[in-house]
Amino acid sequence: MSCEASEASCDLPENGGRRGLLRQLAVAASIGGLAGLGVLTPLDAAAVALTRGQRDDLSIDQILQRLLDGNERFRMGRAAEYDYLAQKRATVTGQYPAAIILSCIDSRAPAEIVMDIPIGDSFNARIAGNLISTEVLGSMEFACAVAGAKVVMVMGHTSCGAIKGAIDKADLGHLTGLVDRIAPAVAETQFLGERTSSNQAFVDEVAKTHVRRTIATIREQSRVLSALENQGKIRVVGSMYHLSGGRVEMLS
Ligand SMILES: [Zn+2]
Repeated sequence: MSCEASEASCDLPENGGRRGLLRQLAVAASIGGLAGLGVLTPLDAAAVALTRGQRDDLSIDQILQRLLDGNERFRMGRAAEYDYLAQKRATVTGQYPAAIILSCIDSRAPAEIVMDIPIGDSFNARIAGNLISTEVLGSMEFACAVAGAKVVMVMGHTSCGAIKGAIDKADLGHLTGLVDRIAPAVAETQFLGERTSSNQAFVDEVAKTHVRRTIATIREQSRVLSALENQGKIRVVGSMYHLSGGRVEMLS
């Protein structure tokens, strides 16, 4: 019987029993080995998921570096061999995520996977075209002002269908209104080549413009977040995930 099938009888032995201890030692040895290779940081080796103290001790720069390090592990095919059940158990009574990430629904761009983020370490909002909305802003304000996250990351991605839809002025039910919200980024993007959805270079430039516009919107529309950022308590950043190569590129 799997642990998930018999939760009540599994949680206790795994937390304190011999099998659980052996598993924890095995995980620790595995992670320790990776840490020795410089793949994981000592903090990763010590934690199943971030504790409040660990999260609070991390600087904004350290949090961003952890996300980029996770992306590097993903790209190199060295993603951590997480014990998701252990992470699940460790976070039942509380969560101390360091970041909230707004990204697209695209099935190829899952932020938690491409940055190798364990359960409990990040809030994640996903919507086509990583669009901001009142609801997403409220979610970000909760993440930062209530739950203590220090990084707000807007992550666009290459070959984004929502961006292509905006370029093509897609007309389909509610999608029309969605891509209309991206249209200003299309108009604003400076680009000398062919401005069509079949030109991937243009599509990706519009996606970058859209991320930057989204960041500006967050700062303009959320007094809570802009105040936190002005106080140095959080940082709003933009990034692009490259489907080809798997790199998360930070945008300036
Ligand atoms: Zn997309």
